[in-house]
Amino acid sequence: MLHEIAPHCLNNEYRPREAQNGDYVLYFTQRELALADGKVPTLENYATPGKLQYLFSLDEKALFLSENPPENAEMVPHRAIRQMEQPFAFAIGTALHLYGWYDKTRFCGRCGAKMEHSVSERAMTCPACGNTVYPRINPAVIVAVVCGNKLLMAQGVNMPEDFYSLVAGYLEIGESMEQCVIREVYEETGVHVRNVRFLKNQPWPFTETFMVGFVAEADDTEPICVQENEIRDAKWFDRDSLLPRTPDSVAIASTIIAMWQRHEF
Ligand SMILES: [Zn+2]
Repeated sequence: MLHEIAPHCLNNEYRPREAQNGDYVLYFTQRELALADGKVPTLENYATPGKLQYLFSLDEKALFLSENPPENAEMVPHRAIRQMEQPFAFAIGTALHLYGWYDKTRFCGRCGAKMEHSVSERAMTCPACGNTVYPRINPAVIVAVVCGNKLLMAQGVNMPEDFYSLVAGYLEIGESMEQCVIREVYEETGVHVRNVRFLKNQPWPFTETFMVGFVAEADDTEPICVQENEIRDAKWFDRDSLLPRTPDSVAIASTIIAMWQRHEF
């Protein structure tokens, strides 16, 4: 899964320090990331990095955000990060999550004053009213709905026609993860689930999400009724038949589908 980068280690403690040669210095726009000579840029690639924001460290190297692009920058879309080799897919993805949070936390949501970085922790504080804001992580569930040897998968309206994945959705205020599983599966497919059990979890920085994976049981004779504004199709797939195209290997959906194929649940 995306965060499994051993023997590499992402150290997310907030211990800011000066950037040194060899440290990764990242320049993002709202849609793109800058590469330098086809690689993740380091401090040496910048003539004028501007003010740098410390993020975290990857093994012995720190990562920073820069206000300015590197020399000879080649801009690539954010989605290219997922295709990078590890540990960069995870580390640069996590940096993108923080870039998005810093970008949206420049002004206080309560009083409109310019926010300042806390000196002691990864938080933005308002010097006028004291409002403190931490990085936002949106919890979501993803669920393998099973009935005997069958798995229910759905095709989102934005997915290609031959692509299916597990039912997923964001946690609403005031509900538990298990309640969210029951609600999301019913809303998206019209199917009632029971015996909801935890399987795996994973940070998914590309959508500022934390994914929590479950398995739940359902009855395959219950009629499927998809939520048409989100889901184009949903159907049962047999464990022994050929599966459709499913999410790539860094996604938790892929791990859970592989567990099901290996009869782990
Ligand atoms: Zn304020």
